[in-house]
Amino acid sequence: MKQLDSIYAQLPEWLQDLVVTAQGALYYRQRYGGAFREEYALLKASEMSSPLQLELLQVARLKKMLTHAAATVPYYQALLRNQSWNNLRAGDWSAFSALPVTEKATLRSNPLSFLTGGKSNSRWIGWNTSGTTGSPMQLFYEPDAVSRQYAYVERYREQAGVSRFLRRAQFTGRMIAPGEHPSRFWRHDWANRALLLSTVHLNSETIPRYLDALERFRPAYLSGYPSAIYLLAQHALRYRRKSLRIPTILTSAETLLGEQRESIEAAFCGKVFDQYGQTEMQSFWFQCRYRRMHTHPLFGVTEIVTPDGRPARPGEVGDVLLTGLINQAMPLIRYRVGDRAAWADSDRCPCGRNMPMIESIEGRREDYLFSRQRGWVGRLDPALKGVEGVVECQFVQEVPEAIRVLCVPSPDFRPEDRLHLESNLRSRLGSEMRIDFQFVDQIPRGANGKFRAVVSRLPVQTETRNDFEEVR
Ligand SMILES: [Zn+2]
Repeated sequence: MKQLDSIYAQLPEWLQDLVVTAQGALYYRQRYGGAFREEYALLKASEMSSPLQLELLQVARLKKMLTHAAATVPYYQALLRNQSWNNLRAGDWSAFSALPVTEKATLRSNPLSFLTGGKSNSRWIGWNTSGTTGSPMQLFYEPDAVSRQYAYVERYREQAGVSRFLRRAQFTGRMIAPGEHPSRFWRHDWANRALLLSTVHLNSETIPRYLDALERFRPAYLSGYPSAIYLLAQHALRYRRKSLRIPTILTSAETLLGEQRESIEAAFCGKVFDQYGQTEMQSFWFQCRYRRMHTHPLFGVTEIVTPDGRPARPGEVGDVLLTGLINQAMPLIRYRVGDRAAWADSDRCPCGRNMPMIESIEGRREDYLFSRQRGWVGRLDPALKGVEGVVECQFVQEVPEAIRVLCVPSPDFRPEDRLHLESNLRSRLGSEMRIDFQFVDQIPRGANGKFRAVVSRLPVQTETRNDFEEVR
């Protein structure tokens, strides 16, 4: 793989476009071949089904997955042996919620025991997680799980007014523009009518060039990390650049902050549709045009539980447990994914879908800072609200009594802006917190080009689960 990368790096940029296109054609076959059509037809037919019809379909899929795991997956063979889960039925989930939770650490320490047959299969598609927190993990998908997943992606795009056939610009963490000084930071995937934009080259100097490229390309939609799209939006707003219109923006992979959505929609005169999923392929949550986040019941079972394991009430934040229903290569049952969320109060959405709704995604436990005065503090985005002169910030914590703020100033940054931000942070973290500022040109992206607002390097004992739950 390394060798292929270095060959690619030496090609002229127009040839790199062809390589990206050839790879795009392969992806296209993988995504829209196989089980895509069958799953897509099912999704379309069941989209507006009643809650009971959806639950019946979900329970049938779940039982199939449990039967499969009990028969062929080493980790679950023993756990599911007594077959009590067979009592699971629509309206009565007690037999399912009695099953033990699968922790991420268990999967990490023995991934093979979660595979069908206890070993990998040459037909499967392997994927290494980036390991931004903890060590990387290897995951496996059946080829049909990937094509099924794209049926959900396509329905999500369609209800947002776009599809795979329209011109798309997409941010990617892939190293598509290698070398010291590439002359452009994007490549064309002509097979998918897509302009791929490199996340790693994005900084205050290159932003105008990205905007120029987007203006030339005229995408029907733009997809990618909210933090990357937000950088473009802020620049367009600051310099009153109104010529670039993008009607639909699809965000995923990071928590979308309110401020980001507002700026992106204002800058491009478009509408943002957020989506939540994970590389473990356990759930598909998507925003409809009424901005409600629906959980798709055929992709996975979503539970939200309190620290004592009871199902959370609407509005009550708890740990998200997921049971994926589309990938038989690596079943995970009641998997604690590490995110926290709350159910919405109402189960009716004007869009007509009877798919349960999420009120808020509180982000990952790793996205919290620790303060001796205030305990664990999450959702730091309001601290940036109203602070001018700052492009983006990252909060790094290495010791409990201090944080480091990596801050990218904009050209019109003034010293008052720093004081403003500092006082906002103090009001959340307490007066005793030491806050050190460090001004930088760019915030480094993690593997896959992902932006992290908080990097917590506190020792593990401060982060034990109970400690976390008590102080919140
Ligand atoms: Zn809806």
